[in-house]
Amino acid sequence: MTTAEVSDEDFREILAQTRHFVRSAVVPREQEILANDRVPDDLREQAAKMGLFGYAIPQEFGGLGLNLAQDVEMAMELGYTSLALRSMFGTNNGIAGQVLVGFGTDEQKTQWLERLATGEVASFALTEPGAGSNPSGLRTKAVRDGSREDADWIINGDKRFITNAPIADLFVVFARSRPADDNGAGIAVFLVPADAAGVQVGVKDDKMGQEGAWTSDVSFTDVRVPAGALIGGSEDIGYRAAMTSLARGRVHIAALAVGIAQRALDESVGYAATATQGGKPIGSFQLVQAMLADQQTGVLAGRALVRDTAQRWLSGEDRRIAPSAAKLFCTEMAGNVADLAVQVHGGSGYMREVPVERIYRDVRLLRLYEGTSEIQRLIIGGNLVKAAQA
Ligand SMILES: Cc1cc2nc3c(=O)[nH]c(=O)nc-3n(C[C@H](O)[C@H](O)[C@H](O)COP(=O)(O)OP(=O)(O)OC[C@H]3O[C@@H](n4cnc5c(N)ncnc54)[C@H](O)[C@@H]3O)c2cc1C
Repeated sequence: MTTAEVSDEDFREILAQTRHFVRSAVVPREQEILANDRVPDDLREQAAKMGLFGYAIPQEFGGLGLNLAQDVEMAMELGYTSLALRSMFGTNNGIAGQVLVGFGTDEQKTQWLERLATGEVASFALTEPGAGSNPSGLRTKAVRDGSREDADWIINGDKRFITNAPIADLFVVFARSRPADDNGAGIAVFLVPADAAGVQVGVKDDKMGQEGAWTSDVSFTDVRVPAGALIGGSEDIGYRAAMTSLARGRVHIAALAVGIAQRALDESVGYAATATQGGKPIGSFQLVQAMLADQQTGVLAGRALVRDTAQRWLSGEDRRIAPSAAKLFCTEMAGNVADLAVQVHGGSGYMREVPVERIYRDVRLLRLYEGTSEIQRLIIGGNLVKAAQA
């Protein structure tokens, strides 16, 4: 078990401050975020000041140093409001940042992590057209300019749906450096500054939900990076780094789903207790109570699963099956809870400016990125069978 860098007492304080920030500063501005498709600068600055851009980055590199058990508690709080807030620093603490934390050389960590912890943004650039669920099909190429070990690398390729690309300072780019063979997938991972010549960020995608969280295509045309940009100094790290970082990220996304499901439940209970039909609160109808009961049961089960999964991750007991099971269960649960929340609200639940309408759209993404529900099922089932055969 890795020891926590942050004591329980200090963590309680960080969590309480985060909860206060989310509920008193962000929740009242959800409509503004939605209408402008942007998290206001003052909220971004406040989040940076609180250390949220690097809460899962080790303290020696300027972060708060929270471990995964603490991360999931943060995610459950951050999920209580527009998911765009968390998305702003989600790639730093999660998929992109953890590739550096887990696999970077000391020099690479020193060069980048402190900048991320204080408000710069890293994006994780893996997905390509035709290489989403199955990254081994990726076609972005990295070629050494010469045969020497210290030669530059030249990167060419196109990525899509890259979260935070329009505001990124750094891209963590996965590229094929050789064909897959018996020794591995042939995928390496590079640190590419967003202002490097040949990096082109496309226009912001027009999405179904999560207004304020931005994604776009990113293309790399003859982008030259030094040998020191190869993460971990080895071409063989990329695929493992992606899989490890995504597995850890799944526990976080599961927790985020629990947070937003809790909000959908609270909105539903509040509405059921006050809205009336025929002079009676709709919450007095047993069929409405049944919907609330299903929502509550899902949230409680999800929260317990997420906490258990984070502990199993930290102890090293299970870093494969449980993260996928938690993501599968919690994101599907959040989808059901959000759907029920709209139902509890009746026609008003279908109206813009009602939180559950936004939540319904926001949660849909959780079942798609960082591995679809189908991919989680394949990981769970595949690993169970493999273990039985071993
Ligand atoms: C808003 C948003 C943000 C994102 N952010 C990032 C990011 O920051 N970085 C990044 O690299 N990527 C990002 N992604 C990409 C995301 O991870 C992929 O979209 C996702 O993994 C699915 O890949 P795909 O879109 O290529 O769909 P596909 O893989 O083509 O999937 C289509 C359907 O086929 C199913 N399917 C695919 N393969 C199998 C199989 N073997 N067996 C059974 N079913 C299968 C899928 O489950 C799905 O239902 C983001 C996507 C979105 C929408």
